[in-house]
Amino acid sequence: MYCECMQHFGQPLVHETREDPAPTGSEVLLRITAAGLCHSDLHIHSGEYDLGHGRKLNFASRGLELPVVLGHEIAGRIEAAGPEAQHLDPARNYVVYPWQGCGSCRVCLEGRENFCPTPRNLGFHADGGFASMIRLAHPRYLFDIGDLDPAIAAPLACSGLTSFSALKKVEETIAEVPLVIIGAGGLGLMCIGLVKALGGLPPVVVDIDPAKREAALAAGAGHVIDGTAEDAMAQIQTACGATIPSVIDFVAAPATASMSFDLVGKGGKVILVGLFGGASDWPLPLIPLKAVSIIGSVVGSLPEFQELIDLARAGKVPPLQTTTYPLDEANDAMHALEEGRIVGRAVLVP
Ligand SMILES: [Zn+2]
Ligand SMILES: [Zn+2]
Repeated sequence: MYCECMQHFGQPLVHETREDPAPTGSEVLLRITAAGLCHSDLHIHSGEYDLGHGRKLNFASRGLELPVVLGHEIAGRIEAAGPEAQHLDPARNYVVYPWQGCGSCRVCLEGRENFCPTPRNLGFHADGGFASMIRLAHPRYLFDIGDLDPAIAAPLACSGLTSFSALKKVEETIAEVPLVIIGAGGLGLMCIGLVKALGGLPPVVVDIDPAKREAALAAGAGHVIDGTAEDAMAQIQTACGATIPSVIDFVAAPATASMSFDLVGKGGKVILVGLFGGASDWPLPLIPLKAVSIIGSVVGSLPEFQELIDLARAGKVPPLQTTTYPLDEANDAMHALEEGRIVGRAVLVP
């Protein structure tokens, strides 16, 4: 097998050939057919997040050890499996759930491996998808994608699941009052489609970029609003037509987090998803007085992933636009993503 390996933060990935891993026990060896390139890969590659107030979150302190193979949006076919790996079909295409935990603690047993205190996230704690093959610990991480194109199914594991899990946290309100979505990038656009798939009203979408507002309308937004307009708050309120119960902030910059907080009514929910960086100065007394829930959402659980894959297989998840790159051009693809030159999702194909 071969991979494009991150040996040092901020340095180009290095092409390596390695021996094919031999799966034992419940392990599965997957031949990768597509691996999505995510903004998180750029963050991880840079080595740190900006936490605001001059603070940085350093990935080395969060259990990332170099060298590591990036990539957490992985689709492939079964190449080999250990004797305890059951119910797998070599003729099928699978997508991998990458947010893996220990498999035995309370949250893991509930399927919420993304909350495991000893995470084994692919492309972070363990080698990920920028490779021709990957060894997985257990078949429960594999989801049959049916007739879906692997290049389109792979990003469901990150952007799709992240949007979906955020939306599930406010699902009970979306058919009553339009959901407010801040940010019409990849996650926001995906969310617009998922709102429809779950029977919600067309959402009200806020973005400062006219091209993204246009894309949001095309994706099914009910209203689009320029977040920099002086009366943006009033426009959003009017478009929703009622007290706003839920806002999902896919940017989570200081300005959008502040706007999200001001928008929701009593008992409302603000779901923060974006990793733009920075810090917020919410007026603390208003948090109890409005009884607001400020909820962070990161990726999603195994049951949520199953539900999302089922929706996708039923044709209810609008396919993302993708641009494919050969795997050995991973460095070029990362540069292109960094410079905003990629339309839709970049997918690396070995
Ligand atoms: Zn990602
Ligand atoms: Zn666990």
